[in-house]
Amino acid sequence: MIRLSNFVDGTHVAPENGKYFASLNPATEEVHVEVPRSEASDVSKAVAAAKAAFSGWSERRAEVRADFLDKIAAGIDARAEELARAESLDQGKPMSLAATLDIPRAAHNFRFFAGVLRHELSVAAPMDRSMFSYVRREPIGVAGLISPWNLPVYLLTWKIAPAIAYGNTCVVKPSEMTSHTAFILSEIIRDAGLPRGVVNFVFGLGGEAGQALVEHKDVPMISFTGGTVTGRKISETVAPQMKKLSLELGGKNPTIVFKDVNLKKHLKMIVRSAFLNQGEICLCGSRIYVERDIYESFTEAFVKEARELIVGDPLDKATFMGPLVSKEHLEKVQGFVAEAKAQGLRVLTGGGRPENLKNGFYFSPTVLAPEATGKSSEGMASEKAFHASKIQSDEVFGPVVTIAPFDSENEVVGLANSTKYGLSATLWTDSLSTAHGVAAKLHAGTVWVNTWMSRDLRMPFGGVKESGLGREGQLDSVHFFTEAKTVCIRHD
Ligand code: NAD
Repeated sequence: MIRLSNFVDGTHVAPENGKYFASLNPATEEVHVEVPRSEASDVSKAVAAAKAAFSGWSERRAEVRADFLDKIAAGIDARAEELARAESLDQGKPMSLAATLDIPRAAHNFRFFAGVLRHELSVAAPMDRSMFSYVRREPIGVAGLISPWNLPVYLLTWKIAPAIAYGNTCVVKPSEMTSHTAFILSEIIRDAGLPRGVVNFVFGLGGEAGQALVEHKDVPMISFTGGTVTGRKISETVAPQMKKLSLELGGKNPTIVFKDVNLKKHLKMIVRSAFLNQGEICLCGSRIYVERDIYESFTEAFVKEARELIVGDPLDKATFMGPLVSKEHLEKVQGFVAEAKAQGLRVLTGGGRPENLKNGFYFSPTVLAPEATGKSSEGMASEKAFHASKIQSDEVFGPVVTIAPFDSENEVVGLANSTKYGLSATLWTDSLSTAHGVAAKLHAGTVWVNTWMSRDLRMPFGGVKESGLGREGQLDSVHFFTEAKTVCIRHD
């Protein structure tokens, strides 16, 4: 068993109180690592180190900072297999997914922002012969970076890379459930020779270490990815302090399938968009709306495909879905399904634990459908109750989807926009005018058409409504982690 330590001022240190808690391997239910239960005093030391490192780091030339980012990316590549394995043991995601998605993207995040930094130009505007203005993008100070458990190291690097690229220093608080790869990243950062104090890691619980970081007076910006409830709490803390705040929160994403969809081509991706990483991706589509003409045939094909997904040992190459992250999360998902069943939803497949798996927090890919699909007045009434139900409104964040029919574009846009969330939406259609028309009407930060989770890091990413505040991406991250200063010069 591995005991993690905090990384403060370039050194790995134990938490001051000497306390640790166990983080389980969700596939075996055995202790995987021991995580420091850090407190406010540990956070204060990390913030002090980051503050002390700020002027030296922010004054380095951009090319020098970019070179450090490249070194960190190379360090991730060099330990990619170890990172993929740790991510899988910690979170339950298939190791094959971590090896092809999480870890390469983590390295890419550093390379991407190194490239952005090297090629950046600033804005200058001549006013007349004797006067011009230009914009300086200036680093702010110590960034507090807080991340969730579902894409642990990938989401962390998406914050650390732009923060330090632009001359800030940071204190990172990874999820208490998945701290292992962040710890490995701290070793990679140390070995890359980054000046001490530029990146600090403090492990611990959200209500303790996380809250202390958010409250700290010397942390002028917080970049947070996680649940909407936590995001709201953080907003309440930082708003009176006038801190900069970026929130990437939960989703309840609609998947809209029009009758002209090329199902032969797209079915596998539609299923993947529902169940990848056990449905524990904020972008997974959990409300599937299908044009009524193809509702029965689509549902049959979708269920057949879902039944064929391999659920099992995340270290096995053939596995598509591992266990859910924790017992508590499994119970939450089970609760959603039990309530939906009690309300009369049909379970078309799944609905419980796979019979062959005795240990671990496994849950089968589950497809639910409303009771009636006909157009009788009784059927329409029960559909209405279904659309207002909890399973259609709240984020499950597990391998559970519903499939419901729709009759018109206006109707499905109304249904898609009917939740408090607005992170992403996916459309499946062969009609370009449908794609453009519906994309324009959806309340979502990202709309994918005939694809899913394709990310161009140059594009803005984030949510509307209760899915977030602000955007991440090339320009957006640079704007978040810097302040613009306009300098106006008269030179006659
Ligand atoms: P969570 O909100 O419970 O925890 C996220 C992080 O916040 C953890 O590191 C936790 O320790 C910390 N935290 C908790 N309370 C805190 C407090 N009071 N102050 C400061 N930090 C605190 O979320 P989770 O369960 O880890 O992650 C799942 C959620 O994340 C889902 O809702 C999912 O949709 C969302 N998510 C969103 C995105 C996105 O890009 N929009 C990406 C991934 C996950």
